[in-house]
Amino acid sequence: MYIFHDMTTYTLNHFIDGSERLPAGGSYIDAFDPRSGRVISQVALGNEDDVSAAVTAAADAFGKWRDMRPIARGRLLTQVALAIRAQAKELAAIESRETGKSPLQALAEIEGTAQYFELFGGLATALMGETIGLGTGYHSYTIREPYGVVGAILPWNAPINQAGRACAPALAAGNTVVVKPSEATSGSVLALARILVECGVPRGVLNVVTGVGLEAGQALVVHPQVRKITFTGSLRAGQAIARLAADRILPLTLELGGKSPDIVFADADLAAAAPGVLKGFLTHAGQVCLSGTRILVERSIHDEFVVAMKKAMQSYVVGAVDGTVGPMTTHAQYQKVQEYYAIARAEGAVAAVGGRLPDDPALADGWFVLPTIYTGVDNSMRIAREEVFGPVACVMPFDDEAEAIRIANDSDYGLAAGIWTRDLARAHRMATLLEAGQVYVNEYMAGGVETPMGGYKLSGYGREKGLEALRNYTHLKCVTIRL
Ligand code: NAD
Repeated sequence: MYIFHDMTTYTLNHFIDGSERLPAGGSYIDAFDPRSGRVISQVALGNEDDVSAAVTAAADAFGKWRDMRPIARGRLLTQVALAIRAQAKELAAIESRETGKSPLQALAEIEGTAQYFELFGGLATALMGETIGLGTGYHSYTIREPYGVVGAILPWNAPINQAGRACAPALAAGNTVVVKPSEATSGSVLALARILVECGVPRGVLNVVTGVGLEAGQALVVHPQVRKITFTGSLRAGQAIARLAADRILPLTLELGGKSPDIVFADADLAAAAPGVLKGFLTHAGQVCLSGTRILVERSIHDEFVVAMKKAMQSYVVGAVDGTVGPMTTHAQYQKVQEYYAIARAEGAVAAVGGRLPDDPALADGWFVLPTIYTGVDNSMRIAREEVFGPVACVMPFDDEAEAIRIANDSDYGLAAGIWTRDLARAHRMATLLEAGQVYVNEYMAGGVETPMGGYKLSGYGREKGLEALRNYTHLKCVTIRL
């Protein structure tokens, strides 16, 4: 496990070339416990020199890793999956402490991390080219080749899971990786890097540089030996990275934000839809990019459905333990949710539930907010257009399929969409017309590590998860021979 000097506070250093590395500049920043607002760790503040050391280690490790037979590379990654499962409790303790999510939620995401390594370990041999018919005078074929050093810049909401999502396919395809986790949540990603080395993955294949985006993150994007960046995070940072990448024509995968519609028709199983819709925007207190935060409800059942959601909401209690809605992971996010409470109020939205901070004095030091449903919302309001990234959703009525599609697609984002209906023909019609990278029918956020994920419009481009992710981490080369 990664080093915990004691369980009160601990120091996190970089992980470069197979071992812990102190920051070149000697500086650290504080990371906080979102449940109490107290400092829990000092995190190495990575600079250009640290990034350079990590990229050099990754570049040096690349040739050997690329040349390993895919079946052997895959076997190592499968070992990583087993080791993650064996250490799941310890990893969940770190993840829960740093993000504020419940240990049970953390365990579920760590199981997902193990599954990424299991899936892509198995798929390492599935990267195959094709032959292209050009008549008898030529032989033409394609080869999938790794990029080389891949940089992965990650957010704070599901740190180890997103590290697995990015690293497992990149490594399976033969790339080596430098990860820059969020400065708020670096512990579990560092622990993952150590697990890889313990499982026999050669040193330098996965490196972690901690620190802030404007220093370590940017240094990674502009480093000439980094050949691809996968970024998960905010639109603002994604745009900044895309501008820097333009200078080098650097390939990017951008997994950005969302304001996803979850559409409930009158013919749906409403007993399943009400709790299902809530789960769609309350998982990890709404700090999930896929959250279904625009709840579109067929007008004939609008009022009844709002009542059903309010009733189902009673099982969501805000708190710091399993079964409760945890805090916002960062103080900035805590402030952002409160700003959106004020924005919604000023726009005339009505808080059917929530819309303010919890009363419980025991929660006052942590970054807790109340799950919130707004009614009386028009899709042109900021509360309906901008990503809050907290447990906040708005409900809007619609009259028919065409209007549901119009409202759903009237968004700058296009990450996900949900449909609740018993009519399968309608579900397929809607799925075809929705501008979203993933569409869920009768279970929001259905799917798994096998199902490709990515955005339309401002939600980004490129795909993570599934076979598509493996291809995303390769160049396609075409060889044509005159016979
Ligand atoms: P963020 O953009 O502030 O930070 C993400 C990462 O980028 C961090 O590691 C940060 O240090 C780094 N960074 C920030 N600015 C940078 C820059 N200019 N150059 C290089 N690196 C930089 O995002 P966040 O607040 O950590 O996460 C919340 C956002 O992430 C939300 O918008 C959410 O929707 C999005 N998100 C998307 C997905 C997805 O898969 N589509 C998943 C989770 C979160």
